[in-house]
Amino acid sequence: MNERSGIVSYRLERQRVIDGVRAGYRDRLEVCDAQPELRRVANNHATAMNEPCPICEGDQLVAVSFAFGPGLPRSGRCITDVAEMQRLRARHRSTIGFRVEVCRSCWWNHLRESFPIAEGSRSRLLG
Ligand SMILES: [Zn+2]
Repeated sequence: MNERSGIVSYRLERQRVIDGVRAGYRDRLEVCDAQPELRRVANNHATAMNEPCPICEGDQLVAVSFAFGPGLPRSGRCITDVAEMQRLRARHRSTIGFRVEVCRSCWWNHLRESFPIAEGSRSRLLG
């Protein structure tokens, strides 16, 4: 999913949250708060990240992706597979994806990156 440019990383923000938990400034319950829908998606449509959970260190992280744009649900549409991604690209409407990492043991979750899926005609003019 990284073959396109325009990817925005949230690595620094993520690290700040992790550092806050480790330093005791932030409560673990506050950051391990995956909502029911995110948990469901993480259990059914996630891809392995081969990276340990930074909070509980007891499980491997998984990644789930959601698409936002015109004609999609306000809460985003889960990108379940390659075919779904191709459908979203084929719409040619301004669509952005958000990749979220989730731990299925402690329910830590954080935005990992955002990436363009498709450009509408207006954003194409802006380059
Ligand atoms: Zn965890």
